[in-house]
Amino acid sequence: MERSDKIRIGVYVCHCGGNISDVVNVKRVVDEVRKEKGVVVAKDFMFMCSEAGQKLIENDIRSGKVNAVVVASCSPRLHEATFRAAIARAGGNSYMYYHVDVREECSWVHENDKEEATNKAIRQVRAAIAYLRHAEPLSRIRVNCERSVLVIGGGIAGLRTALDLAESGLTVYLVERTPFLGGNAAKIGNVKVFPYEKTAIDVVRELIERLRKMSNVAIYTNAEVENVSGYVGNFDVTIKVNPRYFRGKPNGREVEELRKICPRKARDEFSYEVSERTAIMFPPFNGTYPEIPAIDMALCDKCGLCTKMSDKIDLSQEPQIVHLKVGAIVVATGFKPYKPEKSEYGYGLPGVITLQELVGIINRYGDVVINGRRPRSIAFIYCVGSRQRRVDGKKANEYCSRYCCIAALDVAVAIKEFLKDVKIYHVVRDVRSYGINELLFEEASKQGQVIIKYDVDEGEPQVTYINGKPIVKVKDVLTEHMELELPVDLVVLVTGMEPSDGTVNIAEKLKISRGTDGFLQEVHPKLRPVETMLSGIFIAGTAQAPRGVGETLASASAAAAKVMSLVLKGYTELEPFVAFVDQDSCRGSGLCVSECPYGAIVIKEYAGSKKAWVNEVLCKGCGACVAVCPSGAVQLRGLRNVQIEDMIRAAGGAHD
Ligand code: SF4
Ligand code: SF4
Ligand code: SF4
Repeated sequence: MERSDKIRIGVYVCHCGGNISDVVNVKRVVDEVRKEKGVVVAKDFMFMCSEAGQKLIENDIRSGKVNAVVVASCSPRLHEATFRAAIARAGGNSYMYYHVDVREECSWVHENDKEEATNKAIRQVRAAIAYLRHAEPLSRIRVNCERSVLVIGGGIAGLRTALDLAESGLTVYLVERTPFLGGNAAKIGNVKVFPYEKTAIDVVRELIERLRKMSNVAIYTNAEVENVSGYVGNFDVTIKVNPRYFRGKPNGREVEELRKICPRKARDEFSYEVSERTAIMFPPFNGTYPEIPAIDMALCDKCGLCTKMSDKIDLSQEPQIVHLKVGAIVVATGFKPYKPEKSEYGYGLPGVITLQELVGIINRYGDVVINGRRPRSIAFIYCVGSRQRRVDGKKANEYCSRYCCIAALDVAVAIKEFLKDVKIYHVVRDVRSYGINELLFEEASKQGQVIIKYDVDEGEPQVTYINGKPIVKVKDVLTEHMELELPVDLVVLVTGMEPSDGTVNIAEKLKISRGTDGFLQEVHPKLRPVETMLSGIFIAGTAQAPRGVGETLASASAAAAKVMSLVLKGYTELEPFVAFVDQDSCRGSGLCVSECPYGAIVIKEYAGSKKAWVNEVLCKGCGACVAVCPSGAVQLRGLRNVQIEDMIRAAGGAHD
């Protein structure tokens, strides 16, 4: 349709099988709006979303009777896309459309006032007609997409996403901040993860092995994303690859010597700080990538002892800057375990450790050994650092970390298999071992493990230390609120998840929103669960929310599939509701530039005068620029000022 064509509006009002018409007088709505200027057709129908309902619209468009459509029915979330598609099928422009919700907004909320519900429906439809009188056909904005993807994070989520993408034929750049791939899952080591076919480290190893065989994957470890600019389909990424200070892989003898030589020590993050490491960081497990050590320059004091021992070390290496061009980005930067505060549930007392530290001990010693002895009794205290109550506005993790009940039961069942006589207590608010994990709960019960349930309103468990033993004091709901005192050899704090530092940093750098829980936020948990508000940027794994290994892998594959649907065909199309500048009225004040949260407007020179210019691909159509422009030069396509003003007038009762 040419802009000069006369607008011929068809109005279609739905009964929704009585959902609407039992309250709204649909016939009266049709009779009233038929009189409006520009309306050539006004009809009602029992189910507009049915095939027959859609055909009404299609036939009127095909016959040339109608070139703009109002449907008054249910929520646009349900059927706006349905009717736009019907218009397109009939050869019309799907943006010559306005969807009015007369069900949720009229019949449902005013069910006791039929007259008012009907009047409101009439006003809403009149506003839609006013909108369409100024409408113009729009087209989606086509953007070419690079067939390459940046995956940030080398834990299981990043590895899974990268592998899926690489197998689809896309070029993948995987960037990991630490010197080795593997992330948190690899730290679980050889401790079994339910269900038991594979340990977490088996999963990690397999993913790395398969990824390394792909010729279309470039892996950067010890590397950080420095800068990202551009837009969906065309991101320019700068990566800083920090030096390992090694020229190649040292041989076995050199490794042995180097393990002993370095005097600079720190707690080893890979063993949950159970053991020590030196400034020379060795590959933490067989099968990681790369299998070349790296020197932690934050710890190294350049004493030179190692360089005398091995000519493979070069302390003069400099960081490398790599520039990449990618079509999409997946953020899979993971979580960090909650670290209890000193004395929180007795943390810091002898015999009080976190679940992660227990896992670190089992991995290191293949046994549970505390102060040289195997414990005869263990109390696991759940929900530490999760489901916290906010007191005096202090930061609190109010969410459930989802994985920790299962992880604690899993470890406890495994311990009971090799420490047959150990007495195990689970001090819980409740146990959330959903789905197949319920089998773990059953197994723990069969093994004679004891569940003690406390009511948080009656007070949380207290941990003290008397006569060389930690003692857990708790009121047990299951034994009629009896006050129990459990002297045990070991207290294990079942700690939850928090967003990793990498997740927080990348959110700031890429301007990805975070939820109130601090994790990266998706657009919609059901409708767009792995997309961010920034087109072309996706999220996977525990950077988005606490979840276990299986759920993490599923979310990674979901993100990969979503990226493929965007990038594989080589282009994407964006909605046309973006800002545009009327060059004649723009005075180049630049107020809009500073107001735009997405950097989508710049001032450019046109024939000697300065004018605003909108990058349509970056623009999100938020309208912030429109509100500040003193001359009304910036407006939104599909929602120009004249449309808004006339809609308000029509809704208020004015007639054209
Ligand atoms: Fe350790 Fe650095 Fe000294 Fe080498 S130069 S031994 S890495 S402190
Ligand atoms: Fe608490 Fe269990 Fe939720 Fe973890 S998963 S926060 S232990 S209820
Ligand atoms: Fe920027 Fe929003 Fe204006 Fe678009 S509509 S240019 S995103 S301020």
